[in-house]
Amino acid sequence: MADIEKLVIIGSGPAGWTAAIYAARASLKPLVLAGDGVNRERMPGGQLMFTTEVENFPGFVHGIDGQKMMGVMQQQAERFGTRVLQNYVTRVDFKTRPFKVWHLNDLSGVAETGVATHAVIVATGASANYIGLESEKKFENNGVSACAVCDGALPRFRNNPVVVVGGGDSAVEEGTYLTKFASIVYLVHRRDTLRASKIMAQRALSNSKIKPVWNSVVEEVLGTEEAGVTAVRVKNIKTNATSVIECRGMFAAIGHTPNTAFLKDHLVLDVKGYVTLPHPFRSLTSVEGVFAAGDCADPFYRQAITAAGMGCRAAIDAERWLAQQGIH
Ligand SMILES: Cc1cc2nc3c(=O)[nH]c(=O)nc-3n(C[C@H](O)[C@H](O)[C@H](O)COP(=O)(O)OP(=O)(O)OC[C@H]3O[C@@H](n4cnc5c(N)ncnc54)[C@H](O)[C@@H]3O)c2cc1C
Repeated sequence: MADIEKLVIIGSGPAGWTAAIYAARASLKPLVLAGDGVNRERMPGGQLMFTTEVENFPGFVHGIDGQKMMGVMQQQAERFGTRVLQNYVTRVDFKTRPFKVWHLNDLSGVAETGVATHAVIVATGASANYIGLESEKKFENNGVSACAVCDGALPRFRNNPVVVVGGGDSAVEEGTYLTKFASIVYLVHRRDTLRASKIMAQRALSNSKIKPVWNSVVEEVLGTEEAGVTAVRVKNIKTNATSVIECRGMFAAIGHTPNTAFLKDHLVLDVKGYVTLPHPFRSLTSVEGVFAAGDCADPFYRQAITAAGMGCRAAIDAERWLAQQGIH
């Protein structure tokens, strides 16, 4: 392995780029391993590369295209000396210092190579789980979403029926949030009771705008390219009967999977795989010198602005910790 890096940042979403901006301005010359773009979870720029309109990130009066926003963040990080490799991290060794991080690029064929580093910021995000239908993929950003807070206020959903798929806390939360905009929210769930906590389930079921569709799964998302989603076809798994629900949108609310599998033997993760941050308001992980930021460590908010804020925290924590080690 060549020289020891001061700081390696894994991931290039809002958390990774914000951490890079702060760390680069603190003269740490961070190396960002941005993902190799082989699939959605490994996309340089992160999840916002898959959305056309970000309307709730402060600073953009009329909203901004997700890809454009991530491109600008990268430029800002590079302006201060951030180095970027579009590589994917396969494994790490956080058991001894300096830490080691191995990365490759499956698209361009760059073979696995290792880097030694004094500090690491993990900012690998969490991927929304989708049902897995072809038609669901086809209408993504055209009526299919996995984030009510991000997309619920868009004009297409206002005063129109929408479908939420799922029966846990997030489905109930998303469904309840969507009642602010939609004319009716169909909650399609494969069982005949909600898995959500009792109080949340009761609140949802007593909301006159939420209509549960029990024992059912979405079989197909229907629509046209021009109109986007116009309906979903659901199947009752008890009777096998199918029916069509007219709607302008379908929200998948069946959980998220943090992109942390490669960390499981090195950092403490919670049962769902989120990086555990033992100190409130800090980015410190179970390993001194390793920090975490963004959706990979946040099962609650999962927004670009919260991820960016966590990236800022992680860079400041890393910089102070490195200074304590005499590394500037
Ligand atoms: C379609 C869609 C629309 C959204 N719209 C909005 C919105 O309007 N407003 C809003 O605030 N939020 C929105 N969100 C949520 C927002 O995108 C996320 O909260 C935010 O991107 C999280 O940032 P992050 O940096 O933590 O992770 P991500 O953006 O997920 O970035 C993770 C990064 O880690 C990289 N990575 C993962 N594993 C590895 C690895 N092993 N090695 C190297 N790199 C790795 C990925 O390639 C990626 O670069 C939306 C999400 C989606 C899916």
